[in-house]
Amino acid sequence: MYPAFLKVFPAFFKTFFKMKLSALFTKTKHNPPQGEVSINAKLLEQAGYISKMMAGVYAYMPLGLRVLKKVSAIIREEMDALGAQEIYLSALQPKALWEVTGRWNELSEIMYQFTDRSDQEVGLATTHEEPITEIAKHYISSYKDLPLAVYQIQDKFRDEPRAKSGLIRGREFSMKDLYSFHTTGNDLDSFYLLVANAYKKIFQRLCLPVRMIEASGGTFTKSYSHEFQVIADAGEDKLIYCTNCDYAQNAEISRYKDGGHCPHCEKTLTESRGIEVGNIFKLGTKFSDALGLHYTDSDGVARPVHMASYGIGPGRVMGTIVEVSHDERGIIWPKSVTPFHAYIASLGNDPGMIECIKKVYTKSQSAGYEVLYDDRNVSPGVKLRDADLLGIPLRIVTGTKSEGKYEISERSMSTKKIVTEKEVFTTLSSFYS
Ligand code: ATP
Ligand code: MG
Repeated sequence: MYPAFLKVFPAFFKTFFKMKLSALFTKTKHNPPQGEVSINAKLLEQAGYISKMMAGVYAYMPLGLRVLKKVSAIIREEMDALGAQEIYLSALQPKALWEVTGRWNELSEIMYQFTDRSDQEVGLATTHEEPITEIAKHYISSYKDLPLAVYQIQDKFRDEPRAKSGLIRGREFSMKDLYSFHTTGNDLDSFYLLVANAYKKIFQRLCLPVRMIEASGGTFTKSYSHEFQVIADAGEDKLIYCTNCDYAQNAEISRYKDGGHCPHCEKTLTESRGIEVGNIFKLGTKFSDALGLHYTDSDGVARPVHMASYGIGPGRVMGTIVEVSHDERGIIWPKSVTPFHAYIASLGNDPGMIECIKKVYTKSQSAGYEVLYDDRNVSPGVKLRDADLLGIPLRIVTGTKSEGKYEISERSMSTKKIVTEKEVFTTLSSFYS
């Protein structure tokens, strides 16, 4: 039932599925951190998911890393389903490569650039079109080598001027970047559609309602790129969209205004703030022309490779989920990315109540559930407050009135149910099926 490596490393196996809150590296704080303005930074830091190093730079703590890994796992599954192969490129980049495309200067404000001890100028990658195109020259030479798609989940560095949005705008942040290579623009167009659909599936699995909108091509292309935007007040972008059909544009490029008529269906257009969680670009032959990435077609003629690039920020996704899924008491994680399936605790020191919870703790492992056991010697009030702050979707507790049974509740609802031990596991199984 479990992967072989879990049998080889039993210690890892144990911590993977269950954890005692008393042993957790982080502790929840009574108050939100000073100096944070964004909701995601406040809640994630207070609950101990992340720890701030400096503006726009956060360390992921055990709970936060579990969420980030689940977000990344969903993205990885959908990339693998497209037939894309996973790679891992270097963050450290030589100036010479980025000078060929002119982006060493073009990106100089946002790219960390410095001179190393042997007087070489180097930079930290803001994105990876140049290195992937250069590397692809070693492996793509014929039409028989195409199409191809490779992706990575790796950290990017950008000297962002407004790093006040927690995980939504990091200066060091995780990005999934996919690159595809094609013989023709038509082949690129059809793969681009497949990726757009994979993106829709990813955001659906992440429980993030997105709109795919037309946006600027940035430094890449004069035509549109497509952004995946989550409508949220915390967003830095403005969108113009139709509530009746799919029409939507970034206000930056749109000719239309709030209250205007939709060019597709004539209904009224609306303006809202949005958070860009994904962005896909048709690069055409911009990078292959500049760096000399060619293939020979079936007639032996050399032609430039057509390329596209596709980004999603797993950290920004995690911050966005908190922005759209929280209440005044804390975070409300969707099932697909919660750090644990259930929070369990005894609301009192009665040995019988503790025994019942310990049984669920022990059995959860063989049943394949990840549980966080709040075994701290603190008041029921503190436990319930922290359970709300942490935002795990299911809470299973024993109290003075449960008499050998369990009280089970959902973080997103106020209703409670009293159930037997067997029913605890049937509830877990139906909740996470
Ligand atoms: P923005 O306009 O918000 O600055 P961008 O258009 O420069 O973003 P892209 O280069 O398209 O970003 O990056 C691809 C994806 O990486 C984005 O859709 C987003 O999910 C994520 N991302 C970009 N910048 C950041 C950042 N500073 N912090 C966290 N995630 C980011
Ligand atoms: Mg973008």
